[in-house]
Amino acid sequence: MKSLNQWLCSAAALSVVAGAAHAAPSSIKTQPFGSVDGKQVQLYTLTNSHGLTVKITNYGGIVTSVLAPDRKGKLGEVVLGFDDVDGYVNDPNGTYFGALIGRYANRIAKGAFTLDGKTYHIAINNPPNTLHGGKKGFDKKVWSAQPFKTGAGVGVKLAYVSADGEENYPGKVTLNVAYTLANDGSLKITYRAVTTKDTVVNFTNHTYFNLNGAGNGTILNHLVTLNANRFTPIDPTSIPTGVLQPVAGTPFDFRRPHAIGERINKTDTQLKNGSGYDHNFVVNGRGMRMSARVYSPTTGRVLEEYTTEPGVQLYTGNFLNGKNIGHDGKAYPRRSGFCLEAQHFPDTPNQPKFPTAELKPGQVYHQTTIYKFSAR
Ligand code: BGC
Repeated sequence: MKSLNQWLCSAAALSVVAGAAHAAPSSIKTQPFGSVDGKQVQLYTLTNSHGLTVKITNYGGIVTSVLAPDRKGKLGEVVLGFDDVDGYVNDPNGTYFGALIGRYANRIAKGAFTLDGKTYHIAINNPPNTLHGGKKGFDKKVWSAQPFKTGAGVGVKLAYVSADGEENYPGKVTLNVAYTLANDGSLKITYRAVTTKDTVVNFTNHTYFNLNGAGNGTILNHLVTLNANRFTPIDPTSIPTGVLQPVAGTPFDFRRPHAIGERINKTDTQLKNGSGYDHNFVVNGRGMRMSARVYSPTTGRVLEEYTTEPGVQLYTGNFLNGKNIGHDGKAYPRRSGFCLEAQHFPDTPNQPKFPTAELKPGQVYHQTTIYKFSAR
């Protein structure tokens, strides 16, 4: 007869062997992804020890693909995107699939703001406002890139230098972003930026997820939990009114899990103004904390988001229209992807009560956001 202790020891040994059998070393592969503006761009494929695979290109710092396990361990595509760079360059819908957004994520009212007494005008690319940086934001630039492997995981370091006056923003801004895929299923994005003159910055990642599988219908059955007691209501042009409104008693209360589709078609001025959910939530607390959790009851996949940012934009793909044909030749209809854009609040340069988005010479901007994948 084996003692309890002996049983525990042999069970532990078995699970270690089983773990070793499943685990493979994490890896990173670089391959050509096409060319933009005469420059060759690359696709970096990061794979962790459990097979979770993330693909990133240095065009726009775009996350083009995430192959994540469902509850049976089967890997599937959970990110809306294209299989070559031309898909992104020629996107007819301005979706910003997977991209790093800068210099200012989300909207600036009427494309204007005043800083140190001077008014700056940015291109109005989402009338009557500026959206996601202007005419040619960071999402449409070729970044320099360097793959790496450390004890923390495999990744790619990206850098972009935005010239003083680019898109009319003041100051030369140098932005470094590192994507790191770890063996615990987390994709960490760290941002570091400096400027040569007073300016405003807001950086985010614009990945659209569908935990049922990209191109497998809508995300309306996904259960969302948000760590947010308040959100920033918007006017009919999607500019915040400046109020931090409690979510209690509204369709914006995700403090407990709710399906995205449960209340999205309710008669509600805010849902009307956003054509669904397209709102900034004020994340409770400070520092690195969980901002969101999304669960697909169909596949068991879970996405958790953690961030140091004060806000997160829940966007439910209201402007997708089926015209984007992406991975595996599948169309992406309305509400077939959701984004959780960690950010400073939209239109902060015109909203003195919001946490400041100003960056001055000598200061260093930092952000860390994690998307963590699992299944249950
Ligand atoms: C915005 C949406 C916009 C989408 C794609 C989101 O961040 O809030 O209004 O349609 O990006 O451009």
